[in-house]
Amino acid sequence: MIASATALTRFRMGETVTKTGWYLCVPCGYLQEFSAGNTFTTCEVCRAGTDDGPEGYTDKENEFWEFIQVTGSKT
Ligand SMILES: [Zn+2]
Repeated sequence: MIASATALTRFRMGETVTKTGWYLCVPCGYLQEFSAGNTFTTCEVCRAGTDDGPEGYTDKENEFWEFIQVTGSKT
């Protein structure tokens, strides 16, 4: 195994969203928008963070939301 030098910040269910934007559900690839001040939820597609989640993501302590981009950001 090669240690990843570019570990991206991931968030778990129940954490407060600090940045409004699009987040990727790592285990299933689903994209969901979260607004700052809200709380990360389970993934509605794969139920990550719950008992029904994919293998390795069945615990609410698992971090599976990965920040992708700010909503409406101008480039
Ligand atoms: Zn998912």
